[in-house]
Order: sequence, then structure tokens, then C-alpha cells
Amino acid sequence: MIEMKSYRVFLRFIFIATILTKGISPVQAQSGDQILDGIGETGMIARYVFNGDLKDWSRNNLHATAGQNATFINDKRFGKVLSLSGEKNDFVQIPADALTDMESLSISGWVYLRSEKKGQVVFDFGKDMHKHFFAAPSGTNLQEGFQSLITAGKNNQKGAVSPALALNKWVYLTIVVDIPAKTMVTYVDAVPVGESKQIPRELTEVFGSSGDKNKLYIGKSLLAGSPAFDGMLHDFRIYRVPLSKNQLTAIYSNSQRGVSNRAVNVTKVEDNLPEFPLTRAQLYNAYLLAVPDVQVETALGDLPRLPSYVQGTYKEDIVGPKVRVLWPSPNDNSTVLEAGRYTITGRVPGTDLQPKAIVTVKPSKTTAAPRLKLATFGLNQVSLQADAQNQQTKFIENRDKFIKTLATTDPNSFLYMFRDAFGKPQPEGTKPLGVWDSQDTKLRGHATGHYLTAIAQAYASTGYDKTLQANFAEKMTYMVNTLYELAQLSGNPQQAGAVGTADPTAVPYGPGKSAYDSDLSREGIRTDYWNWGVGYISAYPPDQFIMLEKGAKYGGQKTQVWAPYYTLHKILAGLIDIYEVSGNEKALQVATGMADWVYARLSKLPKETLIQVWNTYIAGEFGGMNETMAHLYRITHKEHYLKTAQMFDNIDMFFGNAQHAHGLAKNVDTFRGLHANQHIPQIVGSIELYQVSDLPEYYRVADNFWYKAVNDYMYSIGGVAGARNPANAEVFTAEPATLYENGFSEGGQNETCATYNMLKLTGNLFLFDQRAEYMDYYERGLYNHILASVAENTPANTYHVPLRPGSIKQFGNPNMTGFTCCNGTAIESGTKLQHSIYFKSKDDQALYVNLFISSTLEWTERQITVTQKTSFPKQDETELTIKGNGQFDLHVRVPGWATKGFYVTINGKEEKVQAQPGTYLKLSRNWKNGDRVTLKMPFQFHLDPVMDQQNIASLFYGPILLAAQEPEARKDWRKVTLDAKDISKSITGDPQQLAFKIDGVDFKPFYDTYGRHSVYLDVTLK
Ligand SMILES: [Zn+2]
Repeated sequence: MIEMKSYRVFLRFIFIATILTKGISPVQAQSGDQILDGIGETGMIARYVFNGDLKDWSRNNLHATAGQNATFINDKRFGKVLSLSGEKNDFVQIPADALTDMESLSISGWVYLRSEKKGQVVFDFGKDMHKHFFAAPSGTNLQEGFQSLITAGKNNQKGAVSPALALNKWVYLTIVVDIPAKTMVTYVDAVPVGESKQIPRELTEVFGSSGDKNKLYIGKSLLAGSPAFDGMLHDFRIYRVPLSKNQLTAIYSNSQRGVSNRAVNVTKVEDNLPEFPLTRAQLYNAYLLAVPDVQVETALGDLPRLPSYVQGTYKEDIVGPKVRVLWPSPNDNSTVLEAGRYTITGRVPGTDLQPKAIVTVKPSKTTAAPRLKLATFGLNQVSLQADAQNQQTKFIENRDKFIKTLATTDPNSFLYMFRDAFGKPQPEGTKPLGVWDSQDTKLRGHATGHYLTAIAQAYASTGYDKTLQANFAEKMTYMVNTLYELAQLSGNPQQAGAVGTADPTAVPYGPGKSAYDSDLSREGIRTDYWNWGVGYISAYPPDQFIMLEKGAKYGGQKTQVWAPYYTLHKILAGLIDIYEVSGNEKALQVATGMADWVYARLSKLPKETLIQVWNTYIAGEFGGMNETMAHLYRITHKEHYLKTAQMFDNIDMFFGNAQHAHGLAKNVDTFRGLHANQHIPQIVGSIELYQVSDLPEYYRVADNFWYKAVNDYMYSIGGVAGARNPANAEVFTAEPATLYENGFSEGGQNETCATYNMLKLTGNLFLFDQRAEYMDYYERGLYNHILASVAENTPANTYHVPLRPGSIKQFGNPNMTGFTCCNGTAIESGTKLQHSIYFKSKDDQALYVNLFISSTLEWTERQITVTQKTSFPKQDETELTIKGNGQFDLHVRVPGWATKGFYVTINGKEEKVQAQPGTYLKLSRNWKNGDRVTLKMPFQFHLDPVMDQQNIASLFYGPILLAAQEPEARKDWRKVTLDAKDISKSITGDPQQLAFKIDGVDFKPFYDTYGRHSVYLDVTLK
């Protein structure tokens, strides 16, 4: 999900121009607050403009409160600004938990000082006068000048010191605490004035890890008896990233214009990744002699799918891996519009080799796509089990963190904003959720959708504990009954004889209003549900949907929206999940009622309007509405749901344009530079649309997208976004296969819900085409991102997973009380960890073993039970025991990483098999009760390099990503030297514990890493 934010529009024009010069079509240009000032929006913690209120303009709802007084006065330069009088109780306080989960910290804001009293502070954040971070503009009793200090209690520190701030003048103050660089730098009007190297090693030493004991004051000191701040403040911001000089200069120059919509020039953000000379050896490429040309065929109009990896030849008996070749990636299909032959020249990073692809364009067009062959098992058919040593597995640990906490949640909290929208009273003691479901937040209700799915999955998954299962059954019924009752009210007169508006397309303005608006405040929200059209359900009135159709943009104003269909998708998907696991007909009725409402409205819009709406940045984000509507069609067979699903086609991305000239359907990369998690669910929808419509274009959209996403945009944990260029942590890099050049955003990488959606897409594609590479990816993402995204002792979980040197994971939402998008998908991931271990053929003649996880499968359709017992990945083998009798094909995955062999025994007797890594091995047999199949696949160490800078690589042991355990933050990549002929010679340790050492540094699985880590290393081979 994309985040909401303060300002509004702007950069569209400039940004389009920038992109055009880079040769990308303008349809891909995105603008929005995220790239304002060239800082990813997730980098911001809070922003107080102070133009008349104390609201946080960021998406985080960290609204401030006033001490006794907070006065706003008119200023010549900035309009309304905050004025603090210097009186004792005249200050502003920020919510205590604002300063948690930070790698680094930057503060910026306009300050106008009216007094030179020593000891007054612009801000003072911390626990007490020993553990705090403050800025004293005219010094303290102990220190002359402008002093800024961050301390965890050590004595005699000066902090950063410079001349006192000028009086009676606006100055732009910036303080950057850069933990990896171990510096604090103060700036006045974007010029550095002071620096300190005496800073804490981690910000948790100052602010703790929960943050709730902190006092965060603006204008008031934590030191008793100090004078209060006498002056004015404007546009005070807190960032969780260390602002670079370029960034803070951009903020400075932009904010001099005040809070306006003026376009600003966005230059490429400061590139602070180390650069390497072209002569620097890049792993095995230093030993590379040649890479052969490849022959590729393609159909007329389809860009060829070029192999990302080609077998090269190496010198000095080096057995190198396949060679990554970087091919050009055109923006349309003009090269393949005529049959014939043409040549594409690729390159190999760190070499001057130029392998060629000779492409034959066949005269015919592609017509077919694979049919659905497999089906998944119900979550109630597969259960996780202890490992071969009877120890809990990481999967069980994480499942239990989520299930146990979910069981304690109050459904009324998740219904709060729905009742609020319908003007209904809250049951006594009900607490609303926070974060993106707060009163004023235009995305409220999104967590409820995730919650519906999570409790449905938890219900299906807890057959092992009837009490828990009953708990979730009760929650499901209660949630559905309440939503059903509310939905019944929509469009119906309050009482006999009163008026109502049943027609979804005739919804009038709210009572007393002269326009549709998105005002959700207690005072401003409309609750006239009788006018909303029949079937309507959401946690806000229908205005946002209507405004979007009329061209409303994303933003915080009443005239703007967030992403109404994104939220709706979660709610509908959750209702359908409940229907599917429990047969609750009311859940289906609420879903179809709202789906009918959507159809009524969207079917009246011209296609051009729909294209425009879905291309509206953020506002047009619709999650997987296409998937959900296609799913409803599959359940109900009602044609208009299929039509509605297709109204959500992202035509530009899928098909290039309204004429379907190219796009992903013809293998053109139309998603470079786009927001990752806005678009991945649309692709999940595309595969569902193929399933119900048989239109092969939809299949090819999904298949082509997957191949490109995994080959050209993937980090080693399986995540796919985090662009430095364009500067937004949530988007795909500006060009494919340029992670080093354009990725590794300082604001983070690997939005966790993007990987959740990638796994969903991957599993679905495998049901059509049983390519082992799909489940290889699934395994990678499951172990190294999803499993790795959860806190050690609670279900708190990650948003981004940063992979820069010495990064640390930040976990949020331990008590399930305030959800971002990633906290939402986390409760879904955590309740279906067993989902893809096994699949079966639709006709129940074949079983697929995809993952090696201790578990039991009840294949009820065949009256067969399969028990898988293993300590994988702390053991490189697994054993399947079959209960029951019958002939079927057992397809077992031979992982792509299993290059040291794959050995099968049945009932203790070794089978002669030809098992190629990256395939499925078929074992056909008339299986007998008690048959035991053992699969052994020795692990080996291997490197997974960044495609365009191969010496920067991750270390894997089998499927498991190993992270260097870092003692402290760092700026540079950790350097390791490994034996070129056999890297395992340079690594010691215990495979059964997955604990290793290289040059004295500890490595362990990333999924078991909670401290600072280096997932990418600067590797030299010798
Ligand atoms: Zn997310």
C-alpha cells in the first residue's frame, strides 16, 4: 500500500519530463508526496505545519497536543504559525511513541527566536534530563551558543555547538543524527554549522524500545526550571532517515515557498552507496572467458523472453555459476512486429563480454496458455508439526504468535469505524484502532478486511485446538452479523414513510453539504446511510468512491481521497474468505450486495474514465478488486461480476494502451518505476481473470510480470521494491536489472506486503504451469522474508526490510491495535504458513510436495494421510510417510539450489532417479499404507549477487539466506574473501544449528536475526 501524506500534487510535470528524458513512456510517471523533496514517504515520522492546528500531516496520525496554550498568529512570511510565549506551560507535546523503530533521526523546521534566554529549547525529546535529545538555540548554563545534544546519560558531552541562533529572524534548522555514520550534524539554512561524533550507538539507548515512557516536548525542556521557548515555529518535521545534504537542501528550498502546490525540481537523490571502478573483479566474472550466444524464438508481437542466466566458460578450472546477462528492455514491441530474425546485444557486468541473442520472430501470434491443472488444499487439511527432534519449528513459533494474539483481539475494535460511519453507538469500552484506521484516516476499515481474512484462516487452521477454533468461529459470526446489519441499512428509509435513496448511482450530497467530501471527523462525517444506495458497506460514507470517479486526487484535504477501492478489496476478500471456510451465507450476501453497488456505479463510466481513474496516483490504487470480483463470479456465476472484474483492468500496464498494442501481455516491461504493491495485486487479479475467462492475454500478463519481477527487481530475500531512483522506497527501480544503480533506497527496501502478494501470485501461477522455479521463489520469499519479518517474541512485524550494510529490522503492531498495510498482510501470512506445502492435481491423481516443512496432510478426497517429518533446514533431508492405499503420482520438488545431488529412497531402498535441480521429480506407484519416502538434498553454500554489481552478494546455505551479525551500525559493505574454487573452504560452523563463521564474524539465518545485520557482502574470490 502506498502511504498517505500531507501535501498534495505537484511534481507531476517535472517528473514526467525527467522520465521522458530517460526514455520511459509518460504513462508510468507517478507523482505524489512520496517524492516531494526526493525522500521516500516512509522516511517521515511526523510533520506539523502548525498553520492553525497541531495536526500531524503525515500518514501516522501523531497529532500533537498543547500545554496550557498554543497560539497561532499571522506571520508575513508563512501565514499562520505557532507562537509560544515563553510562559512555563506554553508548549506542545507529541505522542510518546512517535520516536520508536528508528535507524536514524532527523529534525527540521522553521524557527523564529524572540529571546536569547539560556536553557530554552526548540524541542526536548526523551525519558528525562539524562536520556534525551534537545536543541537549545541560545545555549545552556553549561554551554554557550546553539547546542544540540543527544545523550544516553554519559557526562561532559558538548554535542554539536555553533553560534547562537539569530534573534527575530526565521531560520531553517535541521539536525541529522546519522547512526551508521556515527555523527550528529546541525544545519542552519541548510549550511552545516556544528558536528558531534559523541552520539549513542543506537537510538534505543535514548528512547527505549517501546517509547511509551518518553516525553516529547516542543518548546519545553526536560530540565526542571529551564525557561520555556519564546518564539515562533513553522513546518516542524521528524524523519526516521538521516537526511542527506541534498535532501535537506531540497526541503529548505521547497519549504521557503510555504505550503503550496508549486512544482519543485527533483534531482536524483544523493547517491551514497559505495561505487566500484569498472576494473573491480565481480565474483566469478573475473574468471569468465566466454558467454555463448543464445537462440530465442518468439511469436509475432511478443518481445522475446531472454534468459537471465547463460552457462559461461571459466578459466583455471573454476566451476562458476551460470552467468547473469543484462539485456536491453524496450518500452514497446516495435522490434517484433514483423516476422524474421534480429539480434540483441547484452552485457555482463564487470566484463566487456557482449553475448548476443539471436531472435526468430515467428509469423504467427501466440494463442494458447496453460490450463488450470492443480488445486490447493484447504487450510484445514494441512497442519504444521514439530520437527524431527520434536522441537517447535520457526513456522509453528510464528503461527502461534499470530494466532494467540488474534484470539485476544476485540472484534468491536475492528467494527468501530463501520459503526461510526453508520452513526451507530459503540458497545461500551470499545477502543478504536489507531494508525491507518483512526477517525480522520481516509483508509479506515482496511485493517478490518485483513482481520476478516485472518480470523477465517485462523479458524480453518486451528483444528488442533478446539477452544481456539471456537473463539475464531464466534469472532467470524459476530463480525459478519454486524456488517450484515449495517449493510442492510444502506439505501433503505430509516422508518416507514421516510425517504431513502436505493439507487447507488443517485447518492445525494451529505445533509447540509454542497459537495461530496471525505470529511471523516466526528463533526464532519455524514451518517445518512439511508441515502447511500442498497448494499453499501464500508467504514466511511460513499463519497470517496464518487469523488474518485469525478477526478479527485489523493491527499489529506476534504476534497481529496486516499484509495477507496483498496480498502474495499480487503473487506470483500475477507467476507469471501469467511464464506469459503464456514459457508456463512450472510458474508457472501454482504459481499455481493456491495459488489452490485460497485457494478451499478462503474458500469456507467466510459472506459476512458476508468483508465484515468486507475492511473490516478494512489487514489486509483484498487488492491485486487479485479481478483475479488472474478472470484465472486466463480462462486456465483453471475456475469456482471466478471464484467466488473474487467472494469478494473489496468489497461496501460496490462496491454500498453486501449488498443492492446503491447504491455505486459506482449512481454513489455510496463511497470518499471511504478509502485510495487499497488500493482502486484492487480497481477494476482489477472491470473484469476484468466481462470474464469479463459482469455490467454490475462495469463501472459501474469506470467511475464512474474518472470521480470523475480529476475530484474528482486533482492535476495525475495522482496522486490526499494528504489533510490525514482526516490521512493516503495517503487520498482526506474529501469529493470539495475538494483545497484537505482535500488537500495535509504528509506528501505522490500515492502513486506509486496512479498505477501508475490507469493500469492507465484502459487497461483504454479497451479497452471508446474515450473519448479515458481516454488523455488516461493521457498525463498517464505523463509527469508515472510518468516524473517516477525519479531522475536511477539507478532510485531516489518514494513520495509532494509538490506543496506548494518541494517536492523523494525517491528510494529505487537498488540494488533494499529495497522499499516504490512501489519495487515502479516496477520494473513501468519495464519496460512502451511498453505503451499502441498498441492494436488484437480482430478486427485497426483500430489505435489513443494516445501520441506514438518506437517501432516489430510488428503481426504483420496483417504490418504501424508506425514512429513523433518528438521529442514537444520537437516538436508525429509521423510514422507503415507497412510492409506492407492495409485497416484508423487511429484517432489528438486530445488534449483540442490546442485550436490538429490537422493530418493522408498522404504529404505534407494531409487535410481534422474533429478535435475529446478524440476519436479515424479514418483509413480501404487502406494501402500506405511510407505516411506526419504528425500535427501545436500545443502551447499552459494552466492546470490546483485545483478548489476556482482561483487555485492548474499550468502546462502541451501535455501537459507545467512546474515552477518553486525556489532554496530555501519556505512560500508562488509568485506569477505572466499575461496574461488570452493567457497565452503572459507566458512566454518555447524550446519545443524545453521551457525557459521567467516573471519571470526557470525553468520546465521536471516529469519533468526534480530540485531544489526549485513545481508549483502562485498565479496572477493581468491
Ligand atoms: Zn505494506
